[in-house]
Amino acid sequence: MLGIMQDWQLTTDKILDHANRIHPDRQITTRRVGGEIVRTSYSELYNISKQVSNALIDEGVGLGDRVATLGWNSARHMSSWYGTMGIGAVLHTINPRLHPDQIAWIANHAEDKVMIFDTSFLPIVEQIKDQLKTVKTFVIYADAATMPANNLGAVAFDLWIDGRSTVSKWGDFPENTACGLCYTSGTTGNPKGVLYSHRSNVLHTFLTMGKDAMGMGAEDVVMPVVPMFHANAWGLALSCPATGANMVMPGAQMDGASIYELLDGEKVTITAAVPTVWLMLLTYLQENNLKLPHLRKVIIGGSAIPERILRAFEQDYEVDVIHAWGMTETSPLGTLGSLPPHMLNADIDTRMTQKLKQGRPPFGVELKIVDDENNELPNDGKAAGKLLVRGAAIAAGYFKGDGGNVLDDNGFFDTGDVANIDEFGTMQITDRAKDVIKSGGEWISSIDIENIAVGHPKVANAAAIGIYHPKWDERPLLIIQAVEGESPSREEILASLDGKIAKWWTPDDVQFIDEIPLGATGKINKLALREHFKDYKLPTA
Ligand code: ADP
Repeated sequence: MLGIMQDWQLTTDKILDHANRIHPDRQITTRRVGGEIVRTSYSELYNISKQVSNALIDEGVGLGDRVATLGWNSARHMSSWYGTMGIGAVLHTINPRLHPDQIAWIANHAEDKVMIFDTSFLPIVEQIKDQLKTVKTFVIYADAATMPANNLGAVAFDLWIDGRSTVSKWGDFPENTACGLCYTSGTTGNPKGVLYSHRSNVLHTFLTMGKDAMGMGAEDVVMPVVPMFHANAWGLALSCPATGANMVMPGAQMDGASIYELLDGEKVTITAAVPTVWLMLLTYLQENNLKLPHLRKVIIGGSAIPERILRAFEQDYEVDVIHAWGMTETSPLGTLGSLPPHMLNADIDTRMTQKLKQGRPPFGVELKIVDDENNELPNDGKAAGKLLVRGAAIAAGYFKGDGGNVLDDNGFFDTGDVANIDEFGTMQITDRAKDVIKSGGEWISSIDIENIAVGHPKVANAAAIGIYHPKWDERPLLIIQAVEGESPSREEILASLDGKIAKWWTPDDVQFIDEIPLGATGKINKLALREHFKDYKLPTA
């Protein structure tokens, strides 16, 4: 027997439609590339997005066609999202920090028809123009006055949409229609495209709005510092209009001073970004003796939170830290670290230890850990295994079939992470499968070693990698980037790990380098480090 309820298709255009009807005056405040602050209401955003749809239709873009953006967080960028998705075209967010050749490769693989980008990225687009095989139209986020000279025949965004009708038919296609495309940076082989559907994005929006997830409401002011090109800004460009929260878009300026200015001036209550951003902000706050009176919650993910960032926010600034784990393939939120009820009144150290873990899945995400033979391991907080995930907004494969079948017999996706899960469902990442250090057949967690090492006041960044060892197969090498002006000794660094990790986890050596290389999403580039140290021999070998 079927239920007798309406067949309301879950399409993302309904989100902005809702914001336009229910929260028309709530605002998006953008710091543009030129530095000026502009304010756009949700009803204005709705109209501009409709104009974008009409401009795209004029360019011949229709159902299933791909539209690329290389954009900072801004209201214009959001209008490109909704204008594209509304007509059933596919929004392809490109990470501009990738190598230009990789950007060209991705745009060709995606067969993008239109490319819309910020002025900051004009040099990149001009450089790869001759490599781009499918892009017919280039649009630059600018008006007549700010439009840069270019050799692309590009049009200024404001002129492109100027005078167009604000009426355009949205939706009216099946909810499983593709709406977004995002390539994972691919540490091995070529990048692979994750192809979101309207349904998966709407369900992801629902699951992120809950109180134990991001938990925003119409009264909130939310600043996604996490870029819209990095796994959909963790869904915020969808969940904010869905709830009516005001948004603050930091544009290109993500240094400590610029972020603080917006947090304070715009009275931001919730913000989200990778740890590196918060390190810059905290340094700025400490140097200038500033406080964060408006901010109540910060969502930190993309890589593990170092303890000193967690403690600084929670103890010095009384901001609730939500540690989040996810990946492009999980839309991206997989777990969030709100405290479980039985821990709310625990002592500070217990709470901080809990918050360093990656947290629990919201409803809609299922997790399990398995051994190498795919046998499920116990949720006892100790056994570590491959982390598998299944759910409403998890990839079932990659665009154009790249990578083949990625699901196991039960429909679970292998995240490539290694984790443990405790009896309350809290997940803790101990490594990435390819970063794991295997010494004498046992795993050593590079993340644990790194987190403790960055807690040392003279250490700016730390990375642990496995180096060949004739007896143990691999032993850990700890690589340190010192704080400017400091030169910690090898012994000092190793002493800081003493008693905090198992004795046999202690790195066999410490090496110092000027700068630990970061990848396009701000994470430590272990591949580059392994390459850099490929001829290095351990003193113990
Ligand atoms: P890429 O895989 O291309 O680096 P993603 O943004 O999809 O880009 O990265 C997902 C990966 O980032 C996860 O599989 C995990 O290894 C890592 N990650 C994300 N969040 C966390 C976190 N809170 N703690 C530890 N690792 C994390």
